[in-house]
Amino acid sequence: MSVNKEIYLRAKNEIDRRREEAQLSAFERREECKRRFPEIAQSYKIMADTACECVKAMALSGGKAQDFIDEISKKNLEAQQVIAETLKKAGLPEDYLKEKYSCNECKDSGFVEGKMCTCLKNAMKQLTYNSLCDKVPLEKYRFDKFSLEYYPDSVNEDGIVPRKRMKNFFDYCVNYADDFSSKSANILMTGETGLGKTHLSLAIAGQAAKKGYSVVYGSAQNLLSSLESEKFGRSQTGAEQAIQECDLLIIDDLGAEFSTQFTVSAVYNIINTRLMMSKPTIISTNMSMYEIEEKYTQRIASRILGNYILMEFTGRDIRVQKKKQ
Ligand SMILES: [Zn+2]
Repeated sequence: MSVNKEIYLRAKNEIDRRREEAQLSAFERREECKRRFPEIAQSYKIMADTACECVKAMALSGGKAQDFIDEISKKNLEAQQVIAETLKKAGLPEDYLKEKYSCNECKDSGFVEGKMCTCLKNAMKQLTYNSLCDKVPLEKYRFDKFSLEYYPDSVNEDGIVPRKRMKNFFDYCVNYADDFSSKSANILMTGETGLGKTHLSLAIAGQAAKKGYSVVYGSAQNLLSSLESEKFGRSQTGAEQAIQECDLLIIDDLGAEFSTQFTVSAVYNIINTRLMMSKPTIISTNMSMYEIEEKYTQRIASRILGNYILMEFTGRDIRVQKKKQ
């Protein structure tokens, strides 16, 4: 099952649950009022009877039927008035006995004139974000939890001021996340472990998912092994479809996976398919461009070089610095 379909079904269940809840609580309020106010109980009985009589009226013909229907409507209207007055006298709101839907547009059906209602779309957005949060602690990796303090503020041996460079990358990523769309750029984040590549890519993931885009995030190892299981028929996870079709794919730690002929060609397929469909991908890796070429062939390296924004992270391992504090 693809990510989108699963999210849709779960969101639809949520909307159905809301509708059933609205109907059940309206039913309970009606039963309560029937017990409290005999005139309301009587009015409901009249309305139920008139509904039966309506069916009988259909068997009659001509003017006789019309008179009968007029009489039934009158009775029905009177019963409704009695209910309204009783509610008013008791200080209850006039819609007290009606269903209170959380969405009045679609009455919690999820659709308006055959089109998906905003409430269903919003439920899908929320679930997309939640499903991502289940797997990774997204709240921990927000932009506001990213600190530039850990990056040296002086020129290093390569003539770079790491903090300045990282400030540029950080700003770029914030803008990227703010403006994220299914046509956003591809990014390759390179550099040693512990320099914040995962943090920034997850912060983007969180924002994109909050906007309702489908995001798939995984280590190269996990993504590739789920593709392998699917390919060799061990499980039907929909991994390939999800990886190829999601709005944003984030491959973490490319190069750390156990390399085989399968993984090399799978990496090429992912990168190439998504480029052809113009769908954004963010890759983070400890490898240099030279090492990428060595490991995955020149074909992959040139696809990346020609189509990705390159960010070379510099500084000192943040995890080690935090441990020392
Ligand atoms: Zn709705």
